[in-house]
Amino acid sequence: TEDQLAAGRRAHELDLAHVFHSWQAQGPFDPMTVVAAEGSYVWDGEGRRYLDFSSQLVNTNIGHQHPAVVAAIQEQAGRLCTIAPQHVNDARSEAARLIAELAPGDLDHVFFTNGGADANEHAIRMARLHTGRTKVLSAYRSYHGGTQLAVNVTGDPRRFPNDYSAEGVVHFMPAYQYRSYFGATTEAEETERALRHLEDLIVLEGPANIAALILETVPGTAGIYGPPAGYLEGVRELTARYGIVYIADEVMAGFGRTGRWFAVDRWEVTPDLITFAKGVNSGYVPLGGVAISQAIFETFRDRAYPGGLTYSGHPLACAAAVATIGAMREEGMVENADRLGAEVIGPTLRELAQRHPSVGDVRGMGCFWAVELVRNRETKEPLAAYGGSSPEMNAVIAAFKADGVLPFANFNRIHIVPPLNTADADVRRGLEALDRALSVADGFVD
Ligand code: PLP
Repeated sequence: TEDQLAAGRRAHELDLAHVFHSWQAQGPFDPMTVVAAEGSYVWDGEGRRYLDFSSQLVNTNIGHQHPAVVAAIQEQAGRLCTIAPQHVNDARSEAARLIAELAPGDLDHVFFTNGGADANEHAIRMARLHTGRTKVLSAYRSYHGGTQLAVNVTGDPRRFPNDYSAEGVVHFMPAYQYRSYFGATTEAEETERALRHLEDLIVLEGPANIAALILETVPGTAGIYGPPAGYLEGVRELTARYGIVYIADEVMAGFGRTGRWFAVDRWEVTPDLITFAKGVNSGYVPLGGVAISQAIFETFRDRAYPGGLTYSGHPLACAAAVATIGAMREEGMVENADRLGAEVIGPTLRELAQRHPSVGDVRGMGCFWAVELVRNRETKEPLAAYGGSSPEMNAVIAAFKADGVLPFANFNRIHIVPPLNTADADVRRGLEALDRALSVADGFVD
């Protein structure tokens, strides 16, 4: 409406005057105003409609403004907006019960945080206290959050300017078949060599010093490169053998994104700790947490856990989680994500890869896919260098957006990450727009 657009213009002015933004220079830039959102669509400050193929930051897994979740937040707000974490609260108890039920193995206790970064901070703290060790292993090409330790264990360039006080953090090379660090030519070779590298690193760092290994089950922002067969099983075996706590970061991959409730379910691996956030309540109210195994829980049965947050298990956030999980179950959204990946997104992307020479690789599952753009398929030279953008990538993204799709892009990749309940026709329409944007990318192939 006209009123919404006028409010949007005012908000844009005030934003430039007073809001300090994440991850970027504050100088001249023109953030997109969003005046409304519904399901898989958002409307910008000019009233243009976009299909949200980003799920914002890959978190609105049930789309925007799901009526059952909005109603649950309203109902909870009318009853009890907030309560300190030491008190029992029905929304928190029920959210914890549901998450424990969904989590694999004996991960039956939940510590709630405000988001993903602090979930990882607490998981590492638990692992250090549980083992009495200090070091943490994490993968290059990963993202674990913006707080100090979370950004230190992160393996992407956002770590570089923040890389101090990273005591005990050691990075390893992940299994990443498209650009194998190990010279592997088959999936089995990649798994075998990546695991040998990891075991060597554990031995060389001293297993008795290593508290935890943190790994995204399917690395998200770093490229949606799912593990080759056997890799996660090998990580589980190695960490168990050396007494290292295995933390699966499922902040992005969890809660249906991969077509399973937790991504580890695809490989039937049970970590010691799982961190989650984002999809747990579709981001309607900030929430994250750590699902904790019985063995680690036992460490803190008679010993105080030295950590806490004013908003741990916030009633509004937990009520949103209960309603989100309920809506996902009732509407079969996890199964739908699996089907969309297997029957719509995957086949279409593979067909696009055949026709567009700019496509180096397509990979993914569920509603979690990456398209990697290259200048040359033989050399795999990326369309934007690691850690940056390029005029060419910007042109491709601009074409996609001009066609009415809001994309998630990172370096030389476009991620196809719509809400799990996006209508088939909308997914197909978005992929048709991608087809046209890829024609722009083809123009840069040498
Ligand atoms: N871990 C992963 C895998 C993520 O993708 C993110 C956010 O993108 C985080 C952790 C950090 O979560 P938050 O931004 O909620 O702190």
